[in-house]
Amino acid sequence: MKKAIYPGSFDPLTLGHLDIIKRAADIFDELTVGVLDNHAKTPLFSVEERVNILKEATKDISNVRVESFSGLLVDYAKQNGYHVSVRGLRAITDFEYELQIAQTNKMLSAGALDTMFLTSDVEYSYLSSSGVKEIASFGGDISHCVPAFEIDMIYAKYNNK
Ligand code: ADP
Repeated sequence: MKKAIYPGSFDPLTLGHLDIIKRAADIFDELTVGVLDNHAKTPLFSVEERVNILKEATKDISNVRVESFSGLLVDYAKQNGYHVSVRGLRAITDFEYELQIAQTNKMLSAGALDTMFLTSDVEYSYLSSSGVKEIASFGGDISHCVPAFEIDMIYAKYNNK
């Protein structure tokens, strides 16, 4: 069985993330979305909230699982038998950062963890979690950026709309 992990912060989940999830789930037999519990960052949504949002957004995709993890991706991947990490590439600006992470993970895992890149759909290539947060903080329209059920959850964090 071919399985992969799609790790990220997903704070908040965007339609760009969801597009990558759907496409990766078509390629692999099983895809785990790994929600990073990063104590160094103060997230908009807690890790539990992000896991629940991802579960709701992927409930109709039968081969997608959602889990949280902390620490190094290579350790989590080794413990759970993942050999492929999926990442999304939006633009050339993502490339340098993503290449560095991919090569670091390859080195740290002694070659056991490879990274597979899916290029963003042009429709979502402008979308980022930080952009969504910026727009929402000013009460702007995020309906083209995130799944419908998530909109009010995001506004509620900023106490507007
Ligand atoms: P990070 O893990 O760096 O905190 P995110 O959680 O925002 O980043 O994103 C996880 C992965 O999804 C990264 O590989 C990122 O490049 C990718 N990604 C983010 N936004 C989009 C988008 N709009 N389209 C495609 N891929 C995206």
